[in-house]
Order: sequence, then structure tokens, then C-alpha cells
Amino acid sequence: MLSGGAEKAAVSKVYRPKIFASLITEVVKPGKCVGCGACVAVCPPGVVKFKEVPGKDEQPILAGKCLLCEFCYYQCPMTAPEEKELEAMIFGRNSSEMEPFGIFMKAYSVKAVKDEILKVASDGGAVTAILAYGLSEGLLQGAAVAGVRKDMPWKPEAKLALTVEDLLEAAGTKYSVAPVFLALGEAVDGYSLEKVGFVGTPCQVRAVRKMQYGAHGAIKYGNRVKLTIGLFCSENFYYDTLIKEFVASKADLSKVTKFYIRAGKFVVEAGEEKVVDVKIKEVKSYARSNCEYCTDFAANLADISAGNVDSPKGWSTVIVRTEAGMKFLEGAVEKGWIEAKPLDIKPDGILVKLASRKRGKEEAK
Ligand SMILES: Cc1cc2nc3c(=O)[nH]c(=O)nc-3n(C[C@H](O)[C@H](O)[C@H](O)COP(=O)(O)OP(=O)(O)OC[C@H]3O[C@@H](n4cnc5c(N)ncnc54)[C@H](O)[C@@H]3O)c2cc1C
Ligand code: SF4
Ligand code: SF4
Ligand code: SF4
Repeated sequence: MLSGGAEKAAVSKVYRPKIFASLITEVVKPGKCVGCGACVAVCPPGVVKFKEVPGKDEQPILAGKCLLCEFCYYQCPMTAPEEKELEAMIFGRNSSEMEPFGIFMKAYSVKAVKDEILKVASDGGAVTAILAYGLSEGLLQGAAVAGVRKDMPWKPEAKLALTVEDLLEAAGTKYSVAPVFLALGEAVDGYSLEKVGFVGTPCQVRAVRKMQYGAHGAIKYGNRVKLTIGLFCSENFYYDTLIKEFVASKADLSKVTKFYIRAGKFVVEAGEEKVVDVKIKEVKSYARSNCEYCTDFAANLADISAGNVDSPKGWSTVIVRTEAGMKFLEGAVEKGWIEAKPLDIKPDGILVKLASRKRGKEEAK
């Protein structure tokens, strides 16, 4: 017979599974959910669904009987293992203070060769062109990217691109969350694809790596991802407030052709015309609450990271971090999809500044 105190201690040692309710308590309620869709995609009985919450875009809810399998919890980018642990698993070490944008092999300024890509791309079209090369050569059978919904202008949705035309439709930056994991789920569960490309923000890349390397990783999904491309990211925004309220109050959304953030400004174009051109601080209040916790600017865990800072206008900055990433980059050059010029990342350049600023948050924790 245990004494009262010992009984209490034994009870507290009872293993409590990390289930969907834990995600709600630890991630969703404190405003840390990035809306990535990993929990929705991996739930074996399919009982995690997205629900629209006014002003907050989609959030996951439980809509059926939970089997207590813990899958949703451990793929979430906002639970353990954290970035540092994953970095050590991927690269065999952690990046030092002298490597604020992570461990990498080489950096390039990249431009797509084909005009049809440049016309629709955000910057130099590197992301679309590298994926197009992968699809064309059979190195990838599909790519999980961000398309836009037909019924809501510029509202991102997960899109499984199976052709180069699909990639062209999904090119360009959307400044709100695309739950890209739903497309990975479709690739694996719907199409049984074995070789999938994945594009996402740094937090989404972290979830892919958890699927591949985490002790509770959903390898069924993770192992199919053969190329992970991460986008540089200072912050992301709520569609409901940034796009549907702010941008829609200044422009006809159906005429908007492009969004970008450059040189501290948030710009929206409709053809040749800049219909919104404001300092980034004017739209700060529409940033997602989860981004406050973020310390990764340059998608430090990706095979390839892409952004625009430190490259000339019309070119993408591409950081190649892994052998897999290098094979894709070199192949895309060889097959005439991209032009790549080596890029010397300056210690006083914008990439280092932005990455260090975000990393500083981590050190301040
Ligand atoms: C929220 C956000 C913030 C960003 N902030 C910065 C920044 O501060 N500095 C910087 O240099 N670069 C930033 N970028 C990256 C930049 O906007 C371009 O995506 C990058 O330069 C690649 O350009 P590209 O022409 O090679 O890509 P493209 O060839 O145009 O391809 C872009 C790819 O990204 C996918 N995509 C677009 N939007 C999203 C999304 N919301 N979620 C997931 N996938 C998406 C598209 O489906 C497409 O596959 C940001 C991107 C996002 C999504
Ligand atoms: S069944 Fe598994 S994945 Fe689905 S909600 Fe429950 S713990 Fe999460
Ligand atoms: S897995 Fe993604 S969508 Fe689900 S709770 Fe975590 S951050 Fe939110
Ligand atoms: S700032 Fe961080 S948390 Fe926010 S969307 Fe970008 S990568 Fe994700």
C-alpha cells in the first residue's frame, strides 16, 4: 500500500500521451499555431479538421474520436524537437554564431531561363524552375506548393502540382498561410507518390524535418519528400485582416497580380500599377501571432532556401544546404532551367542582418 504522497508521485509518473488536446493547450490557445496543416494531414482517422476562426484564418479542431496516437502533436512545428536538435540531426552539428542563416554549402543569385516562369514568379523564379526541372526529369512526381482559392481572391490553398503548368499557376508569393501539408497528404494518401517536392515557410520546413528525423516522425509522409525548399520569412499575415480588409480597401483584389516585400516596403501590384506601397510597419498589426515566437528567417533546415534579399531585382537568392539540394540546383543549370551566379553573402548584408535579428530572439529567450 502506497502512502498518500507516494501514491501522488506514482500517479504523476503515469505517461500522459501528447494528443490533440495537448496541441490545443500548448500551441493553438497560446496563439502559436502557424496554420501549416501538418496535424490535419497526418491524423490516421482523419478527425483533425480546419475551422475558419474570424480574424485568425483557419485553426485545427477535433471533429471525431481521437485514437490517442500522438501523431498530430509530434509533427507540429511548434512542439519538440526544436530547430537546434533537428539541425544537429540533419547536418551533424549546430550552426555557430558566425552562421546566422544556418549551415550551407553555397549561395547563388538565380534566375529562371524561361520567360513563362519569370512572368509569374515572385523574384527570379528559382523555386518554380527548380521544381519544374525535378518534375520534367522524373526526379519528382509532384510538388506540394501554395495555390490560391478560386472563390476567394489571393486566399492561399495547398496545391499538389503534378505538371509544370500546375507550378506556373502556383508561382508567386502569397502573404498568408497556405496549409501546404494538405497537399503532401494528397500526394501520399491520394496518389501514392514516392518522390515529392515541398515548398514552405521556415516553420513548415521544420515540420517536414520532424516527419523525417523526429523520434515520433510520420515517416510515411516525411520519407516521400525528396526536396525541401524553404522561403525566407520575416513574418506572415492573417488573410482576413491583411488581404480581405487592408488590401481590399485600397485595391480591387481580382485585379491584383503580385505582392512583395522589398526594402522595408509592402507592395501590391495590379499589372504595371502599384496599388499599395506602404512601409512594412503599416501592416505589422496584421502579422500572425505565432510569428512572434519565430527565430528562423532563412529556413535553416531546408535543402534549398530562397528569398530575394542581397540579390539584384529579378533574381532569387538561393542558399544550397544539402547534397540533395545541390543535385537539384546543378541539374537545373545543366538542363537549361536556371542561370546561377555564385553569391558572396556579405557580413553586413541584409540576409545576415535579418537572420541575426531573428536569431537574437532565440538568444534572448
Ligand atoms: C510569408 C512570406 C514572407 C516572405 N518574406 C521574405 C523576406 O522577408 N525576404 C525575402 O528575401 N524573401 C521573403 N519571402 C520569399 C520571397 O517572397 C519569394 O518566395 C522567394 O524570393 C522565391 O522567389 P522565386 O521567384 O524563386 O519563387 P517563385 O518561383 O515565385 O515560387 C514561389 C513558390 O513559393 C510558394 N509559395 C508562395 N507563397 C507561399 C506561402 N505563403 N506558403 C508556402 N508556399 C508559398 C509558391 O507556391 C511557389 O511554389 C517570403 C515568402 C513568404 C511566403
Ligand atoms: S488520432 Fe492521433 S493524430 Fe488524430 S487527433 Fe488523435 S492523437 Fe492526433
Ligand atoms: S501542426 Fe500546424 S496547424 Fe496543427 S497545431 Fe501545429 S502549427 Fe497548427
Ligand atoms: S515568421 Fe516564422 S512562424 Fe511566421 S510564417 Fe515565417 S517561418 Fe513561420
